[in-house]
Amino acid sequence: MAYLNDNYLKLRAGYLFPEIARRVKAFCEANPEPAKRLIRCGIGDVTEPLPEAVRVAMHKAVDELGSRESFRGYGPEQGYDFLRHTIAENDYRAHGIDVADDEIFVSDGSKCDCGNILDILGGDNRIAVMDPVYPVYVDTNVMAGHTGEADASGAYGGLLYLPCTEANGFVADVPSERADVVYLCFPNNPTGSVATRAQLEAWVAYALKNRSLLLFDAAYEAYISEPGIPHSIYEIPGARECAIEFRSFSKNGGFTGTRCAFTVVPKTLMAQTKSGEFHALHPLWNRRMSTKFNGVSYVVQRGAEALYSPEGKAQVADLITHYMGNAAVLRKAATDAGLNVWGGVNAPYLWVRTPGGATSWEMFDRMLTEANVVITPGSGFGSAGEGYFRISAFNSRAAVEEVAVRLARL
Ligand SMILES: *Cc1c(COP(=O)(O)O)cnc(C)c1O
Repeated sequence: MAYLNDNYLKLRAGYLFPEIARRVKAFCEANPEPAKRLIRCGIGDVTEPLPEAVRVAMHKAVDELGSRESFRGYGPEQGYDFLRHTIAENDYRAHGIDVADDEIFVSDGSKCDCGNILDILGGDNRIAVMDPVYPVYVDTNVMAGHTGEADASGAYGGLLYLPCTEANGFVADVPSERADVVYLCFPNNPTGSVATRAQLEAWVAYALKNRSLLLFDAAYEAYISEPGIPHSIYEIPGARECAIEFRSFSKNGGFTGTRCAFTVVPKTLMAQTKSGEFHALHPLWNRRMSTKFNGVSYVVQRGAEALYSPEGKAQVADLITHYMGNAAVLRKAATDAGLNVWGGVNAPYLWVRTPGGATSWEMFDRMLTEANVVITPGSGFGSAGEGYFRISAFNSRAAVEEVAVRLARL
């Protein structure tokens, strides 16, 4: 007899994106002509091609593998030194942030890292998430057995949900209760909000006081446009003692299909054993990666390294300028249409209040049938997302300009 992991049966079976796909398909089948006009602003995937600097570096790396002298087999599980050094130097030390090369762990994605990190954490932690939230944080905890069942609103027992509302500018305040592990994502998916330095200082102070661990997802760091907004949790003194940071090349370098990301685990970061002793997490994560992972391919790591070359940096800047130009077009169009809009300034997502008190799904259907535009219903990210929808700026300029025209007619 083989037993399965019962926790998987608690999952609200991937409700959001399959339901969007089902409604879009039904609409397209029933309305073949309007279906041709359909514009997708739903899923958070990039649309623009891989930067040239990356492609050149990857071609060169492929050729290296083609000769016996420069062939490479298994690489270091933690990532090649050339990439770990380049990341630590450019993303951290160049900004006065103390991060060592061997505190960088290169991986095949932040989504994977956010889930895998639970391997090195105990099963009895009280977990806090923002609401609305990137579903990966919640579902991986469900799978690991860290929650109870979901209630009618989709909220799982045992998790501490921190509502992000208009009143708090979609950045939850530190709670009065203790949480052992807190997921923070800034710039935020789905709301596009960013945390100020003072807000992150409050989170670090909370974590140090409660000996909690902050899991800081900075996948959209490159989209921060306003000065003074921290790009890394390690800009906050004390964060090396309480935070892990996740970063990805998916959204800055267009690596969503190429796959490369990294996680920073400071050697000064400790957590407690059941018997109350403090141990560093760094050796545990190193062991986890060495045992369960065989590294990102050499070709891809050379591609990621090229994002930090002068040409690579300029090409990333062009990509960000393109997507944030889209965000500005969408923001103006939505605002001119009388909608209340947040985000889209330091993130490629706009968070919009549904007009006339419509539910998120009612607005989804309206946008689909009247404007032939696919958006993401806010309620799919958590119950505090009800009454909002997310528009993604990942698109061509022409498509976004057409969305703007349709918003004006709505
Ligand atoms: C896109 C995204 C990531 C990046 O995931 P990858 O697996 O690196 O592609 C991480 N966190 C959030 C919130 C995201 O939206």
